[in-house]
Amino acid sequence: MGRCDSLAAFTEEPGRITRPYGTPSLAAARDTVARWMRDAGMDVRVDAIGNLRGRIEGSDRPAPALLLGSHLDSVRDAGRYDGPLGILVAIEAVARLRARQQSLPFPIEVLAFADEEGLRFQTTYLGSCALAGAFDPAFLELTDGDDVTLREAMAGFGNPHALADAVLRPNEAFAYVEAHIEQGPYLESVDLPVGVVTGISGQSRILASFKGVAGHAGTVAMDLRRDPLPAAAEIVLSAENLARQTPGLLATVGTIDATPGASNVIAGQVRFSLDVRHPDDAVRNDAVRGLERQTREIAAARALGVEWRVAREHPAVHCDAPLTSRLAEAVSAAGLPVELLPSGAGHDAVVMSEAVPVAMLFVRCGEGVSHHPAESVTTNDVAVAIDVLDEFISALTDERRQ
Ligand SMILES: [Zn+2]
Repeated sequence: MGRCDSLAAFTEEPGRITRPYGTPSLAAARDTVARWMRDAGMDVRVDAIGNLRGRIEGSDRPAPALLLGSHLDSVRDAGRYDGPLGILVAIEAVARLRARQQSLPFPIEVLAFADEEGLRFQTTYLGSCALAGAFDPAFLELTDGDDVTLREAMAGFGNPHALADAVLRPNEAFAYVEAHIEQGPYLESVDLPVGVVTGISGQSRILASFKGVAGHAGTVAMDLRRDPLPAAAEIVLSAENLARQTPGLLATVGTIDATPGASNVIAGQVRFSLDVRHPDDAVRNDAVRGLERQTREIAAARALGVEWRVAREHPAVHCDAPLTSRLAEAVSAAGLPVELLPSGAGHDAVVMSEAVPVAMLFVRCGEGVSHHPAESVTTNDVAVAIDVLDEFISALTDERRQ
């Protein structure tokens, strides 16, 4: 908990936590975590994109490694646990193994990813993409708000010419396990410190608009209007209703922009976003298709133009069944009931699942708040997470030695 507090001091914006990719504050936070990794007995290196990798060798040096970790970057005005907690819990679990001189049949690497939130380049998962072999070289030309390219940012922080070296080699690792705050209120509602993640929900992000005719609010009669704003209201409510009636479905209209945007002018155009998530891709795809059909019907009934663009789509990720049951057994061993839950938010495990089997442990957070300075966890819950990870590694150690 003290370390989470110390990392909160590394920021680009005094008074709040803002730690984007490739910045001096992230580099300084990385140096600090590197010191803690060394204290826990790890050899430390920085890879091409700037991820920090701490490693302890197993007795069988060429064996594939167990990867643990999370991300060290943050959103703007962040809390202090989203990301760093998963790194620090992993370091602590490794420190304990070492303190009791447990011999390991496989190496363990703790990863501190340099970019998950994508604050600076409007991307996500740059750090894990580099490891999973999913880094698109076109990303190097992306620019930040000051026209600095990712290539330039990487030059002082990693090495844009060595990206191929960052990719996990075949058999370099056998699993990636991430602890992370839940970012939702479920564990709090069932009064449990930790939960085991079954998978990460798929997501569709749609950008849509209705186009009508702007006019004077005092002169255009109601039956002569082609007002796109009530049409948007209809689809906002439809999305809410559909999600309420479909178990596990989440639908959110997070932005809505009416132009020209004056209180005495009928809007001419309304743009809105729609975010749809579900652990089952078929359910999500059905929902998106249904909402698109409704959007077009509403537009037709009101004689409006309509645009519907799927801006981003991520399929659901399933956590590895054997690893997940090991994690569940470790929770039981800590004397706790096992709560299985899907993750609605994306994590580095999404991308890592392209390279290795993944599992995730959620830690309860106060009122489900995240991406906000009020983010909180309790010392007790963090202690449970460390116990569970420690038990998980020990059980895996026994299993792999046989
Ligand atoms: Zn996170």
